[in-house]
Amino acid sequence: MATVFTDNLPQPNSSSPGTDERLARLGVDLSKYPAVYERQTYEPIVSRTNREIHWPILRGFSAQLLKQVPDPVMLTHIVTTRCNYSCGFCSFADTLNAKTNELSLEEIEKTYATIGKNLNVIVYSGGETTLNRNLPEIIEAAYRLTPVKSVYIISNAWKPDLLLQITHRIKQRCPDLHLTWSLSIEGPKPVNNATRYTKANTWDAWQNTVDTLEGLKAIRERFGYRELDVQLCTVCSPGNVDVLDDWYAMVRDELQPDKWNLNLMRRSVQMSDHQLASFDARRASRQLEPFEEKYLQITQQVRNDVLSGRLKFLYHTNNPQDGALKSAVDLISQEENRRTVLEEPLQFCCRAGGFGAYIGSEGEVSGCEEFAHSPEANKSFGNLRDVGYDFQTLWHGHKAEQYRQQVGSAQECRGCTLESQRNYPSILLSFKTLLKARQLARQIH
Ligand code: SF4
Repeated sequence: MATVFTDNLPQPNSSSPGTDERLARLGVDLSKYPAVYERQTYEPIVSRTNREIHWPILRGFSAQLLKQVPDPVMLTHIVTTRCNYSCGFCSFADTLNAKTNELSLEEIEKTYATIGKNLNVIVYSGGETTLNRNLPEIIEAAYRLTPVKSVYIISNAWKPDLLLQITHRIKQRCPDLHLTWSLSIEGPKPVNNATRYTKANTWDAWQNTVDTLEGLKAIRERFGYRELDVQLCTVCSPGNVDVLDDWYAMVRDELQPDKWNLNLMRRSVQMSDHQLASFDARRASRQLEPFEEKYLQITQQVRNDVLSGRLKFLYHTNNPQDGALKSAVDLISQEENRRTVLEEPLQFCCRAGGFGAYIGSEGEVSGCEEFAHSPEANKSFGNLRDVGYDFQTLWHGHKAEQYRQQVGSAQECRGCTLESQRNYPSILLSFKTLLKARQLARQIH
């Protein structure tokens, strides 16, 4: 690996009129980050794997018809539950930094080698994903050992240059991989920095996230990276409900990420940390919390703005139709969550434990995070360390069968709005919603 200086390339953002003024308004100074201007070079991994989504979808449909258990199409992989921030709305708020016996790279490689031939999407989550120093190697292992096409990395973007360096490496080592960074940000600077509970008052979490957003856009342009996206993710919670209208306008008109995710605060966090009435109690009294009302309103506005072209919501895929399809899936997922909040009939059943899989930081396998971390009964399918890292042994084991029967109807499922674990695998593996996504995709430009 060698450091290459690329001074003959265009200056970041110089091709976009008005960008310098916009960066100045946002307080972004990209000159602080060497990785915007130079990169190490890496040898690409040679791979002839077919990564098209069509095959997993076809195999998924055929498994449904034959009533077989499919290999997972989508995996949520928690690579650490350590974090350097301490946000009250985090799914792992109660157990953050408690577990440190994370799967090693070698253990993960053995697991990926047995995960099957259907895997198309991996969401890397935490904790703070970049605190696992093997994160690039883990992604490369997935690229070598599985047919994964799309990788999402959720990060608090605490260290912009580190995220840029990881991007340089992944984009060169895994040339066919679609990489999307999902960067957390909870609202305007004062709200974000108060909400994220970083240790030092002087730590500007908001600026780090915005710098990372702009740095990623800059290196995409400067180094010609294809299939690279950067999203901003905001959790809709009681802590930011009052600023969300203005925040959405700022995201859409000023920050302009490739996509903005508005996620409802997780059910488990609502129950444990905010003294809210339970989902059942709220629905029984027909009361929506203000943050639920705001979610309904803003996600509907997002949909209108995407379809009218006012909000950019298009992934950078090789084929524009694929990007539009991904965006349509996001819109359908938000629609499903609105139905969940309003208790309207849902559009599809949960496929967690079939098309969707979950691996915890210490090797627990489950259908989803709610099953793996349920305080009432741990519904994990077992631990990879107990079966020689053979994913299939757990996936087809007795416990998996037992808990698969409860998917969608267990206590944990009431009010579930898990996008990557409940909604996305189900949308892609249902004729009705896949058709709907394709129709919607034609309206997205
Ligand atoms: S509905 Fe939600 S909690 Fe229930 S199995 Fe599916 S993803 Fe898990």
